[in-house]
Order: sequence, then C-alpha cells, then structure tokens
Amino acid sequence: MSDESFAIPTWMKWQALPVPLDPSFASAATSRKMTPAVSVPCRRCLHHTVQGQEVILLSYDPFLGDSPYRSRSPIFVHAEDCREYGAAPNEDNRMPLQQRSKLLSIRGFDEHNMMVRAELLEDAKALRMCEEMLVGGGCEYIHIHYARYGCFAVKVERQAGGE
Ligand SMILES: [Zn+2]
Repeated sequence: MSDESFAIPTWMKWQALPVPLDPSFASAATSRKMTPAVSVPCRRCLHHTVQGQEVILLSYDPFLGDSPYRSRSPIFVHAEDCREYGAAPNEDNRMPLQQRSKLLSIRGFDEHNMMVRAELLEDAKALRMCEEMLVGGGCEYIHIHYARYGCFAVKVERQAGGE
C-alpha cells in the first residue's frame, strides 16, 4: 500500500491525547510502570517504544464532554517525556505507523457526545471512513481504539478553521 494512501487531509486533525495527561498519572492507582518484552505504541509521541524502554500503562478517558459513552481505556506512554522522539501527530500528514495494519474501532460522535456510527476497519480504509463520518456523516469527532485490546488510539476531528 502506497504511503500516499495514508495521507491525512489538511482539514483533518489527528490528535494523540485530546485530554492532557494529569501530572500525577504515573503514580495513580490506575497506572503501572513496566518494561515490556515487546515494542508497544506510545500514545503521547505516536511512536513505538524501543525494546527495553520503560513505559507506563494507564487508564485514560479521552472525552472532553459528558456522555453515556464516556469511559476509560488503557494506553501506553513512554515513562520519560518523549516529545523529542518524534514528530508531533500529523506533522507529516500521514496516518501514524502504529495505527496501520491494526484492526481499528472507529467510533463517531455527534455534538452531544452521542455515538452515531461505529465501524471496524484497517489502514487506509479506516482513514477514508473518518473522512466519510466527518463530511456529511453527522459526526463532530471520532475516537479510534485498537479493536483487539480496546486501547484508545487517537481522536480525529476537523481542524479549527478548516474546510
Ligand atoms: Zn512516546
């Protein structure tokens, strides 16, 4: 699959952590510090960890508004502040590698934070579905989760001032 098929439209915002991490996240009862035996996807820098890097697995709620659908799900982040590891999300306008070749749960919400559409797709098909949901699909924003483990992956919405 060509890299071009993963190009995110300029009007679309691919947002790693819509709700900033509380500074106490590392010591919260709902988090665990660990060194996984395998590479895991960091949700702060949107890069995979290098084997042996310490990470924190925590319970994360990506909702900015109240909703019956509001819930927490697990995410990994590098234990060290990792913004220097890579580009900010959407900097190269490509769907991040960590979200490719994974079955993604694409959940579209309206302006009242109610889920109006949900699909399971992979790769560029997932990206095209986000476009369809946000353009005339009745969705204000989308939460993408990794379908198999249920971890929150990213929020997708229109750029402020976008088309
Ligand atoms: Zn990271």
